[in-house]
Amino acid sequence: MNQQPTTHRLSAGATDFIASADLQGLLSQTRPDPVRVREILAKSLTKQPLSAMETAILIQADDPESIAGLFSTANRLKREVYGNRIVLFAPLYIGNQCVNNCAYCGFKATNSQAIRRTLSASEIEQQVISLENQGHKRLILVFGEHPDYSPELIAQTVRHIYDVRSGLGEIRRVNINAAPLDSEGYKIVKSSGIGTYQVFQETYHRPTYQTMHPAGTPKGDYLYRLDGLSRAFEAGCDDMGIGALFGLYDWRYEVLALVTHSLFLQDRYGVGPHTISFPRLCPASGVDLKTRYSVDDRDFMRLIAILRLAVPYTGLILTARENAAIRREAMKYGVSQIDAGSRIEIGGYTETSAMQVMEREQFSLGDIRPLDTVIRELLQDGYVPSFCTACYRLGRTGKQFMEFAIPGFIGSYCTPNALTTLAEYLADYASPETRAAGMQRLQVELDAMPDTPRKAAVSERLRRILECGDHDLYV
Ligand code: SAM
Ligand code: SF4
Repeated sequence: MNQQPTTHRLSAGATDFIASADLQGLLSQTRPDPVRVREILAKSLTKQPLSAMETAILIQADDPESIAGLFSTANRLKREVYGNRIVLFAPLYIGNQCVNNCAYCGFKATNSQAIRRTLSASEIEQQVISLENQGHKRLILVFGEHPDYSPELIAQTVRHIYDVRSGLGEIRRVNINAAPLDSEGYKIVKSSGIGTYQVFQETYHRPTYQTMHPAGTPKGDYLYRLDGLSRAFEAGCDDMGIGALFGLYDWRYEVLALVTHSLFLQDRYGVGPHTISFPRLCPASGVDLKTRYSVDDRDFMRLIAILRLAVPYTGLILTARENAAIRREAMKYGVSQIDAGSRIEIGGYTETSAMQVMEREQFSLGDIRPLDTVIRELLQDGYVPSFCTACYRLGRTGKQFMEFAIPGFIGSYCTPNALTTLAEYLADYASPETRAAGMQRLQVELDAMPDTPRKAAVSERLRRILECGDHDLYV
C-alpha cells in the first residue's frame, strides 16, 4: 500500500463537492406543497434525473397522499426502467485484516474478538467452487483495508476467480468492495477485468464522519475517500458504485448527499454511478454503537423510493443485511440487485453451519436463505431472477451504459439475457420446485413478447439451453 500522504494522491481539482450548509438549507424548508410534489413525481416518470432541490422536496413530503404517490410512482418507474428483472450476486469476503477503526464495523483494528483471516489461493478456490455449485455467476469481493490487500493482490485474486471452473459453473463478473485506491491502483485492478468497484462514503456529514473514522487512520481522511471515485474515473474505471451506511446520521441528509454525489460524477465525467447501496447499520461483534439516527422500516422504504426516482438509471442494491420480508417489500420500490445464498464469515461458504458466527463476520446478516429458495420466491412473486453479465463483457459500461436509456434497450438486451441466464440456472442447478416455477415464468415472459424475429431468437436460445445443454448465450 502506498504510504505517501494522501493529499498527494488526489484527483485533479479534488474538492469537497458536498456543500453541507446548502444541503441542510434545502432540508430545512417547510413542508412542501402537495401540488409541487406531484409535479416532481410527474417529472420523474419522464426518466430525467432529479435535481438536489427536487430530491429535497420529495424527502420532506411526509403527508400520506404524497407518500402514497411516492411509492406508486417509484413502483411504476422501476417497472418501466428495469422491468421485472432482479439481478443476483453473492459476496465473497477475502480477508478481514484492517488498519482502520470504523466505529460500526466488526473488522475494526481494535476489535480483539474478531478472528482475523485472509483466504489463501486454494481456500478462495474452494469458496468459488461452492458458489459456482449453487449457480452463482456474479460475485462481489470484499476486503478490509490493509497493506496486504494491495491492488496487485486484488487483481491477482480477480484473475484467479475467473479461472476457477466447477463442472459447468463459472464466475463471469467480479465486482469489488474495498478501500479507495490511487489512480495507479485503479489501473492495476481494472486490468484484471473487474466489473463495478464500490466505495461507500459511509456518511457525507463531515463531523459524523470524523467521529466514526478516527484521525490518523487511512479512512479518517474524508476528502481522500470522497475523491475516491473521481480518481477511478480519471484512471479509466467508469463502472463505480457509491453508498452510505444508514444509521450514522440523518437519512434525509445522506439521501440528498448521495444524489449530489451522483450529479457531480455525471456533470464532471459524463457518467453517474453504476450502482447505489444503502446498507442499514447491523449488529457486529465488538461493536456497541448507539446513534439517534436508526432508520425505521417505513423511512427505509421512502428513501429507496426517493433514490429510485432521483437517479432512474442507477442500479439500487439491497443486501442480505436486511431480512427476507424487508427485501421483498423493497423490491417493489426500486431495488434492482440483491445478493442471495450469502455467507460473510471468512470461508463461510464451506465451513459454517446454519448459525452465523459473529466473530468471523463483519456484521450479522438478516437473510441467509439458500439461493434456490430466494430464486423460487422471486419467481412466485412475478420477477425474473437474472445472472446476466452481458453489458460489461461487451463493453456496454460507462457512457455506453447510459444508453440504457435508449428506447427498446430492455426489450432487446436485458429481458432476453435475463431469460437465458435463468434458463441456465434452471437446467443446471434448480430444485424440482424452483425449476417448475421457472419454466412457468419463462413461458409467461415469452407469451408476453410481440411476435417478432426477436421472440423467435429468444425462444431458440432457450431451447438450446434447456434441451441441448448450450451455455452462455447472450446478446
Ligand atoms: N474495508 C473497505 C471499506 O471500508 O471501504 C471495504 C468495505 S467494508 C468491508 C463494506 C461495507 O460494509 C462498508 O463500506 C460499510 O458501509 C459496511 N459496514 C461496515 N460495518 C457495518 C455494519 N455494522 N452494519 C452494516 N454495514 C456495515
Ligand atoms: Fe475496516 Fe472497512 Fe470495517 Fe472500516 S468498514 S473497519 S475499513 S473493514
